[in-house]
Amino acid sequence: MASNINDLSNDFPILDQQVNGERLAYLDNAATAQKPRQVVDSLVHFYEHDNANVHRGVHTLAERATTQYEEARKKVQHFINAADNREIIFTKGCTDGLNLVASTYGEQNIHDGDEIVISIMEHHSNLIPWQQLAIKKHAKLKYIELSPEGTLDMADAEQKITDKTKIVAVAHASNVLGTINPLKELARLAHQHGAIIVGDGAQSVPHMPVDVQDLDVDFYAFSGHKMMGPTGIGVLYGKADLLREMPPYQYGGEMISAVYRDRTEFADIPFKFEAGTQNIAGAIALGTAVDYLERIGMNQVAAKEQELVNYVLPRLEALPYVTVYGPQDPQAHTGVIAFNMDKLHPHDVATALDAEGVAVRAGHHCAQPLMAALGVDATTRASFYFYNTQEDADQLINAIKATKEFFNGGTI
Ligand code: PMP
Repeated sequence: MASNINDLSNDFPILDQQVNGERLAYLDNAATAQKPRQVVDSLVHFYEHDNANVHRGVHTLAERATTQYEEARKKVQHFINAADNREIIFTKGCTDGLNLVASTYGEQNIHDGDEIVISIMEHHSNLIPWQQLAIKKHAKLKYIELSPEGTLDMADAEQKITDKTKIVAVAHASNVLGTINPLKELARLAHQHGAIIVGDGAQSVPHMPVDVQDLDVDFYAFSGHKMMGPTGIGVLYGKADLLREMPPYQYGGEMISAVYRDRTEFADIPFKFEAGTQNIAGAIALGTAVDYLERIGMNQVAAKEQELVNYVLPRLEALPYVTVYGPQDPQAHTGVIAFNMDKLHPHDVATALDAEGVAVRAGHHCAQPLMAALGVDATTRASFYFYNTQEDADQLINAIKATKEFFNGGTI
C-alpha cells in the first residue's frame, strides 16, 4: 500500500506509458483524474466477492454490500466534515447533485420576482439548472462578475446579493481560471440576506481540505471521478433540515417507507433522494479513493499542487506569446491553468501538445459565458494533480515552445 506522495508510480500504471512516441504527461485532471490501483482493485473485489443489491436483502452478500456502501457514506461524511452521514446523498456526479437541488429545493422555494445569484465563472452544470429554473419561475438570474485579477469581484457580490436573493450558487474553485472563491464569505453574505448557498465542489474537493460545516454551505456537490473514484458516482451534501423539507427528486424503489394505492410515505434522508438501485460498487470505490487521499493528507495534496503551480505559472507567463487567464498569483490558484498562444486555435495547440505526449484540453470548458467575459471563444487548459511531477511541467513548457517553433518559426 504505497502512498508516498513523491513516489506514486506503482499506484498509477496508466501514467507509465508513451503516447505518440513520447512520455505521457497527463495534464487533463480537471476533466477527470486517473485511478490508483487501490480504487480499481476495490471495484474488482466488490464484483468478484460481494456483489449484491443493498438494503433489501438479509443474505450475507447483501449485508456485506450494504455495510460497505454505508461505510463509504461515512468516509465521505468525515472527508468533508459533514455533521451527519444522512447529509451525504450519493448521486451520479456533480451535475446530478446540482440538478437535484434546482429541481427540488428550487422548485419549492423560487417564486415570481425572486433572484438567484451565480457567478460568471460557473461551469454550465452550475448555471443551466438555475437559468432554467429562473425562466420557469419568472425569477431573475444575476451574475457576480470577475475582478481585473481574474478573481470573483466581491464588491459586485455585495451588490448583487440582496434581500430578494433566494439562492446563491458558486463554484468553490473554477474549472477554467483555477481561481479559489471565498465560499465562506459568500455563505455569510447569502445568509445575511436570508438566502441559501450552493457550493460546486467539483474542482475543490479533490484538491484541498474541505469542511462543509466551517464553510457553512447549505448544499455542496462534487464528482467522484475527479478525485480518483469511478465515473457515475458523486455526492450531494445538504444540511439535514433542508433536505428533510425538500420533495424527492425521483420516485421509485428504495426511497419509500410505505406505499398505498393513492399515496406514498417517503423514506428519511438520505434514502429519500436515492431512488432505484444505486451505483453501489462506484460508491464503495469512491470510499477507497477517499481512503487514498486521506492517507496522503489533503494538506499534502494541496501543497504538492501549489509547488507545481509555483513552478509552472511564472514559466508560462514568461513566454511572450502566451496569455494566461485567471489570477497571476500562484497562491490564489489551483492546479488548473488556462492559456492561449497568440493567434493559434486552442484545438491546434492541444493537438500539437498531444504529439509531444502532453494531454491537455481545449475548448470552452463548459463555461461559455465566462469565455464571452474573457473575450475569447476557447482556451487551452492544463490541469495538474498531486501525482504530476516537475518533469510533467517541464514537458508542458517544452512542448509549448516546440509548438511555437512548429507554427512558422515564431511568427504566430
Ligand atoms: N462543476 C465544475 C466546476 C466542473 O469542473 C465540472 C466538471 N468539469 C462539473 C461541475 C460537472 O461535473 P460532472 O460532469 O462530473 O457532473
